[in-house]
Amino acid sequence: MTIRRLPPEAVNRIAAGEVIERPAAAVKELVENALDAGAKRIVVRIERGGLGLISIEDDGSGISREELPLAVERHATSKLTAGIGGDVDLLNIHTMGFRGEALPSIGAVARLSILSRARGADDAWTLEVEGGALHPPRPAAWAALSAHGTRVDVRDLFFATPARLKFMKSERAEMMAVSEVVKRLAMARPDVAFSLEHDGRVTFRYGAEADPENEGRRTRLAAILGADFAPNCIALDQVRADVRLSGFAGLPTFHRGTREHQHLFVNGRPVKDKLIVGAVRAAYQDLLARDRHPVAALFLDLPPGDVDVNVHPAKTEVRFRDATLVRGLIVGALSHALAGAGHRASTTTSATIFSAARPHYTPQPMLRVWGTAEEALAPGDFVMPSGRVETQPSFAEAIAPADLESAIALATAHDPEDARFFPLGAARAQIHETYIVAQTEDGIVIVDQHAAHERLVYERMKQMLASGGVRRQALLIPEVVELDPAEAEALTARAEELAQLGLVIEPFGAGAILVRETPALLGHIDAAGLLKDLVDDVAELGEAHALKERLEEVCSSMACRGSVRAGRRLTGDEMNALLRQMEATPFSGQCNHGRPTYVELKLADIEKLFGRR
Ligand code: ADP
Ligand code: MG
Repeated sequence: MTIRRLPPEAVNRIAAGEVIERPAAAVKELVENALDAGAKRIVVRIERGGLGLISIEDDGSGISREELPLAVERHATSKLTAGIGGDVDLLNIHTMGFRGEALPSIGAVARLSILSRARGADDAWTLEVEGGALHPPRPAAWAALSAHGTRVDVRDLFFATPARLKFMKSERAEMMAVSEVVKRLAMARPDVAFSLEHDGRVTFRYGAEADPENEGRRTRLAAILGADFAPNCIALDQVRADVRLSGFAGLPTFHRGTREHQHLFVNGRPVKDKLIVGAVRAAYQDLLARDRHPVAALFLDLPPGDVDVNVHPAKTEVRFRDATLVRGLIVGALSHALAGAGHRASTTTSATIFSAARPHYTPQPMLRVWGTAEEALAPGDFVMPSGRVETQPSFAEAIAPADLESAIALATAHDPEDARFFPLGAARAQIHETYIVAQTEDGIVIVDQHAAHERLVYERMKQMLASGGVRRQALLIPEVVELDPAEAEALTARAEELAQLGLVIEPFGAGAILVRETPALLGHIDAAGLLKDLVDDVAELGEAHALKERLEEVCSSMACRGSVRAGRRLTGDEMNALLRQMEATPFSGQCNHGRPTYVELKLADIEKLFGRR
């Protein structure tokens, strides 16, 4: 065996495999370099989905003649400085880049040319690298838009690695990925102007915003995420310890089919982080069907020392020093914001109704936005009259009969005319045994009775769970689950917490756990499967989420089965009771699958429909 050092071109080509896996990755690195150079304006020009040309021009600090060759040298960077002992602090990173890998990697697999004029210099220089071969810098003409800056041109990406070329998708697909990357960086930096052109045509252009923290961020996000986003999202801003979470969370009814619409940023860096994604999912979990995803733009800011960004060559994953704190902040802030939205539902739903009714009508946001449910009405502890509900044992457990009486009492205590002044109005009719039509002060409300009741029952079950009402059932024969000894230990350390959730476990020698009791709600369960999920949760997040999530999932499907069906005739009192209870229940604006439970039409909108306005 002979051990040899690989030539630098081979080393760079290997690194390029990780860092520059497709055109969008090169664009990301180059735009990040421009941002690190303090650019306020970045122009991205693409040809043939990035396989023909990637050209990125900025008005940043530029690179001097002397430093040009260093810029394309591997592990050479201006962004980290070694301390006295020669070591570098990798946990105190304030720039997007720091690994000194992007330019040499691109140079190894493409024809790279850098044209730059450094700030204060009166000449411009250009440097070329072709498939790893470096040419010395040459003087060049400077015809760029600003006094100083850099233009990096990447031609024939992957010409030096034909195998990689075979993995490219269509030019259109590569371009979509490029556009996505530039948009994400543009969301993080409203203070910088961005434009993107493909084959000579402008894809988008965003001007620099003056107030990037507040109004500017809002404007930039609206430009990128579309006009629909602003009226369908909730602003959040919360701080816990040194961590700040700000941004916008979409209403549950404004859901999408993929997670692509969740934009997450850590210290201004776009990330696809598992922990954040999981926390967002948990916050929305019981507001959305499994295969639907919320829209969100969330910005986490924390001291650089509390997050490790050097986890992944493309720097899209991070590790938090205090993962539990970060997760708690995200879940807490989102849940709070969503609860605050009360029974507010997506505006686009009612807009769709209108476009169906009148194809030429321009939909306007028309769902009234209420304050929190608590503001609208003191929380009433009442539910739908059970006489009309198909009672299942589990459902009956969830709803105490005494509550039913008070529901009717409260609904009938009010003069029906007064009920008009409640947010959801006075019930006037039930149509098709499925929808309740109510009259409000200035419009009408149509409620989907099944969706609405399902939500009410579910919220109630969740309350029971939260107040420690998880009933347990003992297993006839306790089940032994084999685990890794360290895992078993981690889990038994949490036995008390798990018992509160209805799962009673005991250590059973090294590496095994005995399951004695399980939550009654779950029925027969695969104990081994559940324990393994819990082990992952505890390892990754320090909490036992899988069990809570499963319990909530069961509640959700029980609520669905146990709720008043479409097709049931309701009395006036019952309908009003349902409306009043919706007003008092958090999240009642959507059912457990993220569909709205009601829509509201304003008189003004109805008048428009009839051409009266
Ligand atoms: P890193 O960004 O990790 O430092 P790169 O290979 O991306 O590594 O870039 C190497 C160096 O080249 C940077 O540290 C920076 O000094 C310089 N550089 C790259 N792009 C630009 C640019 N657009 N403007 C100014 N300097 C740049
Ligand atoms: Mg870089």
